Amino acid sequence: MRVFLHDIATISGINQKRNWFFFMAALVLTMLLHNRAVFALGLRMCSARVRRGPWMDTTRPNSDMSEFREIFSKAKHIAIITGAGVSAESGVPTFRGDNEKWRKWQSQDLATPEAFSRTPSRVWEFYHYRREMALNKKPNAAHLAIAECEARLRKQGRTVVVITQCIDDLHRKAGSKHVLKIHGSLMETRCVSCGHVTVNKRSPICAALKDKGAPGPDVADAQIPVDKLPRCGESDCHGLLRPNVVFFGETLDSHILTKVEKEMETCDLCLVVGTSSIVYPAAMFGPQIASRGVPVAEFNKNTTPKTEYFTHHFQGPCGTTLPLALARHESEVI
Ligand SMILES: [Zn+2]
Repeated sequence: MRVFLHDIATISGINQKRNWFFFMAALVLTMLLHNRAVFALGLRMCSARVRRGPWMDTTRPNSDMSEFREIFSKAKHIAIITGAGVSAESGVPTFRGDNEKWRKWQSQDLATPEAFSRTPSRVWEFYHYRREMALNKKPNAAHLAIAECEARLRKQGRTVVVITQCIDDLHRKAGSKHVLKIHGSLMETRCVSCGHVTVNKRSPICAALKDKGAPGPDVADAQIPVDKLPRCGESDCHGLLRPNVVFFGETLDSHILTKVEKEMETCDLCLVVGTSSIVYPAAMFGPQIASRGVPVAEFNKNTTPKTEYFTHHFQGPCGTTLPLALARHESEVI
């Protein structure tokens, strides 16, 4: 079963028939979750039966940090799901919402296969701008706390995996080793002809994009000829490259999803960090783990549509709350 990237908050503005299908599927899913019903969906990532967890007796998740810390101290395998909120604290814009636009568009307008095939120059300008910005940003306290925790727990025979929706390189820059990038990476390219994927951090990625991609609303498109856009370096190919990110409406990488499924089945603690839980399928990961009775703690600036399914909720900037949550516990001897 293929799993598509979609966004319940914005999809109503897109008129393709298939997106209406996903909109309706997401709507039904949300209604089922809202009623806390037992459900089974054919979607690969939504195939587990959701049942009431032991915490459902309480009305809300709690914000008891000392209780969370006790659970954390006993966890052997921790899954940390991260979203744009973590990168936002490093100054990486998401291009979502009216206040965050590139020229006159949001990411949902440009991060689509249709936009790339229609105007590859414009889409490359947008991604060139995002690549250059990401290259210049630094990991914040949340990224560093996650990376430090992974390194520390590894010495104790415990594991930490980061399952991230972020396409910047900040988790790796912070030192995280075990990172599953479910939406791809700004620092990788994929050839549309031969499919070759490669890491590419060149700045600029090609000569024609030098000094292009300015985000101002009045900036005109550079209209770079397609043969001057990034091209494949494989012998005899020379195909057009695209950012190796998952566009809206595209399927997620099945190999990565298989790894994510395994982590979701084996983790004994989950943190959902800096995500508004509206982009599917990632929005389902936390609730699905919670359905096994595993503690799930949400760290976010606000509550989300999924908050009520979690055992803990810590409100505030992740760069403030996460270092406290993941700091060395007194029971750690190494
Ligand atoms: Zn190629």
